[in-house]
Order: sequence, then structure tokens, then C-alpha cells
Amino acid sequence: MAGLYVHVPFCERRCVYCDFYFVTTAKSHAPFVAALRHEIAHYGAEFGALEPIGTIYFGGGTPSRLVARDVEAILLEIGQRFDTSAVEEITLELNPDDASLTYLRDLRAIGVNRLSIGIQSFYADDLKFMNRSHSELQARGVVDEVRTAGFDNFSIDLIFGLPDQPSEYWAANLERAARMEVPHISTYSLTVEPRTVLANRVERGLVSELDDEEVSERYLFTMDYLESRGFEHYEISSFSKPGFRSRHNTSYWRHDNYLGFGPAAHSFWWRGLPAGRWANVRNLKAYEAIVGGRQVPLDFREHLSLDDLANEYIMLGLRTSDGIDLDLLETRYGVDLLDEKLDDIAQLEQAGLIQPVSGRELQLTRRGRSVCDSVVLRLAL
Ligand code: SF4
Repeated sequence: MAGLYVHVPFCERRCVYCDFYFVTTAKSHAPFVAALRHEIAHYGAEFGALEPIGTIYFGGGTPSRLVARDVEAILLEIGQRFDTSAVEEITLELNPDDASLTYLRDLRAIGVNRLSIGIQSFYADDLKFMNRSHSELQARGVVDEVRTAGFDNFSIDLIFGLPDQPSEYWAANLERAARMEVPHISTYSLTVEPRTVLANRVERGLVSELDDEEVSERYLFTMDYLESRGFEHYEISSFSKPGFRSRHNTSYWRHDNYLGFGPAAHSFWWRGLPAGRWANVRNLKAYEAIVGGRQVPLDFREHLSLDDLANEYIMLGLRTSDGIDLDLLETRYGVDLLDEKLDDIAQLEQAGLIQPVSGRELQLTRRGRSVCDSVVLRLAL
């Protein structure tokens, strides 16, 4: 089953680390919603009959800047153009400052059944450093609100490795999340992306990044702590209680098809070779104008060979606790990894970074997870 992704490019303000596409100046969301509906109709005509939809994900930006009526209009458009009879999961990313009980109840009533909440930290100092739009109070209160509104399936995002964040803050953030019995946590280490406010501060010497060892220590602590509290570490950044894994993200890691709508959204469709990946223009006004002129708002399209897909499978598979299935790699992607990378596999195993599981599967070890990118580089074709 395919997934649908809707990119909602509106934010209240600019978080210092963010390099996603968004605007903070939109006065009305109506032109965006109208353009989005046209785009959904266009792709529905081409892809709607090919595969039923399993998951829908509203990401951003900040999707919770949209009123529930707009979210409903988008879902209705999707329902008219695609086979949504088997949809299991509709996720919406929510910022704590948007979490009024009325809004949350409205979202629940129109079919949203999972929330991904951008808490990032429960501490005012951290939130101020990141320039988040919500307060400490809102960060601490949002979980009760979403539960009261009827959501039991939700995730919270937390960021570690902030330059001046005392390590006790990070431990306390995790403890608080565990005490609240949240069913899913995504943890990210703060990375300095080019052309962000944070990168500018680092360049000017106003902020210094944590060194790799400290980041790695916090990551290892995170794994130990959350696993001891009953979370499954099912992907490098994702921890879930049993039964609460993200189905939408899991479908990306499995190489399932997905379509992305909205500015800067990416799509992937594999039905015969070459497979296709394409992305929309990264500009709201251009997106609205192009779609308004009944054109496709394409930024780029690329074709992926079987080797490209095999490399992606290795990269994505290693991120997950399932690891890489060597038989699948051979039958689906035509690659005999043991033949191609025998020496690298032996060296990585000896270094304690990967381990074989039941003979025909390879997984990152605990230590390997903190250097996932370098392992992927060694195994790439
Ligand atoms: S709310 Fe999210 S998308 Fe918006 S600026 Fe902050 S991190 Fe970026």
C-alpha cells in the first residue's frame, strides 16, 4: 500500500536549527489549500487506481497552523481521488502552542488518529535557545491535552546535544517523557545545517557545537534509558512502546511507494525500472502559481537504477532494528552483498559494528548505531 505526504509550509517563527521549507509570513492559507487540492486531483488521476493508500502524513512546517476545516478539506479531496478504504494511520505534526482541546477534538473527529508533537525539550532555557514558539508550560501540558481529546497514539520529538544544555536536562527530559508514558519518542541530536540561524551563530563563534564523543555518550545513554523503560529501539531515532511504531515512516524504510503534495514535498514510485523520485518546487508562491496554471510544480525528477535502489535499501535497512535481509537484497535488488562486500562485512563485524542475525540478516550493533553513516558508506555498492 502506498503512503501520502502533505507538506504544510507554515510556521509561527524560525527555529534556529531548521532547514525545512516553511514561511512565517502567510496571511491566508486559502490559496495553499486550493493549490494542494488541485495537485491531489492531478496525481489522483494518474496514480489513484494503482494502489490503495495505507497511511497519510501531514508534515511541515507546522501542519497544526491549519484550521481543522482545512485539514478536513484536504482529507476529503484525498478520499475522492484515492482508495482510502484501508487507511490505518493519519498523522499530523502538532506544535504544543496549537494544542487547544477544541482543536484536538476537531482533528480527532475528522479522522486524524496519530499526532507527532514537536516538544523538543521540557525546559524553558532550551526552548529559548532553539527559538521554539511554545513555552515550558505548554510543553509540559500538551500530553494531557492530547489524551483528553482522545489520542492514545502519538509521538513526541526531543532534541539532544544543545551546546549549553546540561546533561541533567537531557536525562530529565527522557525521564519526564517516560513518566508521562508517551507511546513513541523520536530523538534527534542537534545538527548544524548550512544556511540556518544556528550555522550563522557557529560561524561567528557565538555558539560551539558539542563534540562527537559527547553526542555519542548522550545517544548511548538514551538507548539504555529508554530500553530500560520498555521502549523498542526500532530505528536509529525512533523508540516505541509495543504496537506504536510509525506505520508511515516504516513504509519509507521498506521502500514502499509514496506521493508528496505541497511545496518541497518529495515522491517515490517504483513500478518497473527505473523507479522515479521527484520533488516539488521549494517556494510557496511559485508552487501556488504553477499549480494554479494547471502545471506540475516539479523541481526535479530522477530515475533510480536497481543499484541506486539497493544502496538505498542498505542505508534505510541498517537504520532499522530489522537490519538488512540478504535474501531480499538478492531477489528484489539483484545484489549478493556477501559476494560484493565480504571483506568489509568481516572487518565491520570484527570491529563490533554489525552482527549477523539468523544467518541471512545483518544488523547494526549497539555501538554501530552511533556510527551508522560510516557503516553505510562501507557497505554501499
Ligand atoms: S516549527 Fe518545525 S518546521 Fe517550523 S521552523 Fe521550527 S523546526 Fe522548522
